Amino acid sequence: MKPFPWHKGALETLAGARERLPHALLIHGAAGIGKVEFARALAAAVLCEAPKPAGACGSCPSCHWFSQGNHPDYREILPEAAAEDDDDAEPEGGGKEKAKSLVIKIDQIRAIADFIALSTHRSGWRVLVLHPAEALQPASANALLKTLEEPPPRTLIAMVSDQPARLLATIRSRCRRLALPLPGRGVALEWLRSEGIGEPEAALDAAGGAPLLARDLAEPEEAELRRRLLAELARPGGADPQFAATIDRTRLERSIWWMQTWVHDLIRARLAGDVRHHGGQAITIRARAKGADLDALLDLDRELAEARRLAAHPLNPRLVSEHLLMSYNRATSGAPR
Ligand SMILES: [Zn+2]
Repeated sequence: MKPFPWHKGALETLAGARERLPHALLIHGAAGIGKVEFARALAAAVLCEAPKPAGACGSCPSCHWFSQGNHPDYREILPEAAAEDDDDAEPEGGGKEKAKSLVIKIDQIRAIADFIALSTHRSGWRVLVLHPAEALQPASANALLKTLEEPPPRTLIAMVSDQPARLLATIRSRCRRLALPLPGRGVALEWLRSEGIGEPEAALDAAGGAPLLARDLAEPEEAELRRRLLAELARPGGADPQFAATIDRTRLERSIWWMQTWVHDLIRARLAGDVRHHGGQAITIRARAKGADLDALLDLDRELAEARRLAAHPLNPRLVSEHLLMSYNRATSGAPR
């Protein structure tokens, strides 16, 4: 479990002081910087039987089991739907996709009670990584609270979140917070180049500086979605609401995300005169920002954020994107509202 280069310092600090680790750690920061991978690297370091200053040794029995995904003192909790994504599992026969749970269910939390209560198998440590923490339903969060209140010694519960503000205050208050920052630009670019990403600068800008997100965005299919959607948003007469028909459920969340980055750039162009995400289209964005209604853009930004939160739920994706494109047209048309 090798940490990303930009996480080495934080990992060393925590792994070097594992006897002083809190029971519960809330690891938070921007999406796409590798927080879950950090939590796993920390777990491997804590469970390692011959830890090195930089983290897990990589060769002891514990490290071996960890890398095989069957360490008896390690558990990971995530929503069903995310677990499917991890395995890249396509339903056989291409049948209608079964609705996978997007939340962490109370049964999943109850199922770890034994794991927490029973004795450990190896070094005496046990580690639970839970992500994303904002997927905890209120009932699940309440069930987890009891575990957070009285965990046995040498237990580490690491929760990972992009949006810690959405967690119950009672959960937050029981965790020590660890904010992982965006990596420095040089480190991120070097890593993207080592991953074979062409035009790493553009990808990193589009991702707001988050390298893993940048790598995802550079995928050909993603790049194509981005190109088509931004061309639509850049149209002088406004976006064609018919375009919504091409956005299916699997692309809704990412499409809304792209709209958000574009709207952020419009707002930025309006307020500060520069753009952050789409430097290659700065001229178009500035022109478009001039005629836009700033208040309407800020409203739209909030609307997009809300739509993104709901995007994973079974709504009608076409209606959602049509509505957002029309809001966008109103905000950028220059006509009084
Ligand atoms: Zn080891």
